[in-house]
Amino acid sequence: MTHNFGAGPCILPQEVFKQASQAVLEFNGTGLSILEISHRTPEFEAVVDETILLVKELLNVPEGYSVVLLQGGASLQFSMAPMNLLADEQTAAYLNTGVWATKALKEAKIFGNVNVVASSKDDNFSFIPKNFDIPADSAYFHYTSNNTIYGTELMTVPSTSVPVVCDMSSDIFSRVIDISQFGLIYAGAQKNMGPAGLTLVIVKDEILGKIDRKIPSMLDYRVQIEGGSMYNTPPVFSIYVSMLNLRWLKSKGGVSEIEKENIAKSEALYKEIDRNPLFKGTCSIEDRSRMNICFIMENPELEKPFLKFAEDRDIIGIKGHRSVGGFRASMYNALPITSVHALIDAMQEFAEKYR
Ligand SMILES: *Cc1c(COP(=O)(O)O)cnc(C)c1O
Repeated sequence: MTHNFGAGPCILPQEVFKQASQAVLEFNGTGLSILEISHRTPEFEAVVDETILLVKELLNVPEGYSVVLLQGGASLQFSMAPMNLLADEQTAAYLNTGVWATKALKEAKIFGNVNVVASSKDDNFSFIPKNFDIPADSAYFHYTSNNTIYGTELMTVPSTSVPVVCDMSSDIFSRVIDISQFGLIYAGAQKNMGPAGLTLVIVKDEILGKIDRKIPSMLDYRVQIEGGSMYNTPPVFSIYVSMLNLRWLKSKGGVSEIEKENIAKSEALYKEIDRNPLFKGTCSIEDRSRMNICFIMENPELEKPFLKFAEDRDIIGIKGHRSVGGFRASMYNALPITSVHALIDAMQEFAEKYR
């Protein structure tokens, strides 16, 4: 068995892969492949409806919010959010906690003013800044809930009276959240929801339509909501596989149950990182992510040999991002705890060998 710690596109459950491949051959008794069926058929419309319903159920989305399935990845949301929410003369507040946040605020500058309320850039984003001030006249406050590259995560939503916009690409569906604290949440699906090609947006309806910029139809949340996520041809297969994955999540007991597993998995690995004299974590302990666990070796010369040692045990995808180095073990929902134990065992055996 391969232990896939890749950062994204990520591991999905084996049963989802099996069901998805079956649907490529024949979808739901239609005599057609999921890849050739019209998106306007009742059979496929049912897939979109169920996907949106599962998102609403699993995340407990309250009244007054719309769930939309889009394309373009989280990266298009970096532009789409300010295009819809930030007027030329207004200022949006951004918390800079990494590469993705930096890219998001760069795009926002095209549409209005950006106030970076705090940044941990000078420390290579190894912690989440605290005690920053979000001016009450900001159009919105934007942050990245989980910093996929650096392994930091904000578990609580910074308190503010302005709408909160959150890039939740790499921790959505991993822990219980209170949607009512947000104005807009977006996530590229390929980190914890499904395959690449789908972008999830959850938006509070009342924050839309407040600015009078002309917005291209495809990039206007209101047009996409009105079109029921089918303003144009949606990413049919990505939506289908995401639906299967959300069904799997529901069958596991939903987000609160998977959160318990995610806590257990991350605690086990951090414990080993802190215990094993060869390894050490890269970010401040109170900001540690449950999804992406970054660590390095006390002796950098051992990093290549450890990577090889792990690969020989079918542990793949743990090479760290080039901006941090070392290792990054991404532990999304579908990664079984047995894979975490395989990695921990490898770290212990390696330490025995090089002690
Ligand atoms: C991967 C990632 C992105 C980029 O997502 P795309 O869908 O490739 O545009 C943005 N933000 C975060 C937090 C990510 O992890």
